[in-house]
Amino acid sequence: MPTLPLPSICRVLLLFFITLGLAACGETQKEDSFKLQVLGSGGHDDNAGRASSGHLVWVDGAPRVMIDIGPGTVLRFGESGAEPKDLDLLAVTHLHVDHVNDISAMAKRGFFWGRDEKLPVRGPSANTNLPGINDFLTELIYNERSAPYRYLSLDADDDNYIVYEYGPDTDSEIHVPLDLDALAAAEPVMTFESEEHDYQVWALPVQHAHIPSLAYRVDRYDNDGSLRYRIVVTSDQNLRDPSKPECADCMNLAYVNFIQDADIVVQHFPIEERGYEHPGQTLWHAQPSMIGKVADMANVKMLVLSHLMQGALKELNESVEEIRNAGYTGKIEVAEDLKVYKAKASSE
Ligand SMILES: [Zn+2]
Repeated sequence: MPTLPLPSICRVLLLFFITLGLAACGETQKEDSFKLQVLGSGGHDDNAGRASSGHLVWVDGAPRVMIDIGPGTVLRFGESGAEPKDLDLLAVTHLHVDHVNDISAMAKRGFFWGRDEKLPVRGPSANTNLPGINDFLTELIYNERSAPYRYLSLDADDDNYIVYEYGPDTDSEIHVPLDLDALAAAEPVMTFESEEHDYQVWALPVQHAHIPSLAYRVDRYDNDGSLRYRIVVTSDQNLRDPSKPECADCMNLAYVNFIQDADIVVQHFPIEERGYEHPGQTLWHAQPSMIGKVADMANVKMLVLSHLMQGALKELNESVEEIRNAGYTGKIEVAEDLKVYKAKASSE
């Protein structure tokens, strides 16, 4: 059938709506230029429908920073529409299975992803209980004689495997002090900077019982260099002042400073208030009441409760009430896999 020419009024209208549509898309893209996506909102108990810990920061329409890579997060990464070639950084909070187990799956995927540069990785240094990120990756992938996944680190000329950038000649390990007083006074470390997209990633050592653990903060800047958006991922930690282990109410002030005025704090939230009746639990995780106190003091705009385990899910309403009772009045969201949260500028 021959195509009939559109009457000219139709063509004008079509052009008008296309232009309007493009303008609207442009606006949306600008507004959406810095956002958080949950890849895994669960933990390592039986949370049907939730991958384990993993969060993604999108900057200017692409997934730039992935924070944690727990079981199931590589699947979610694909479902989110993200492509590994766009990642600037993989930041690992700590080397527990529920935060790092998909790292070899992502390395394998690197074979297919078509990027010609290694992906920078950052993570904690070692202590007497766990290796640091460098030894972890060496023993898992890179040791030519003993790494179980050494086939992933073949020379690029042989088979085009392009995997991770790490090791002594990079800043991949972020020092976590062993001394509790030093941990309480820890300064944030700048771990990555993107000049192209005006953001920086900072890490702060935090206390997760006796395991080296890092909270991460992604800061986005305006053209004049002032801070525009701030997203934080807490890591597993107890939020308490490490130098005063006997004081259950003393908060980690270095951490309060670190998250000050954040638009979004992804709060690891595995355990309900009552769960802390179990002796020793307060060394590993933060009680909801402590979470509320810290978020209020730091003037956090939005808490996204994530890394949810059975205990927290069973008593979610009570736990949220504890956060409120502690004085926090900002927004509280309960994370779900693949959910997206936009950062809003603190001044808006
Ligand atoms: Zn965990």
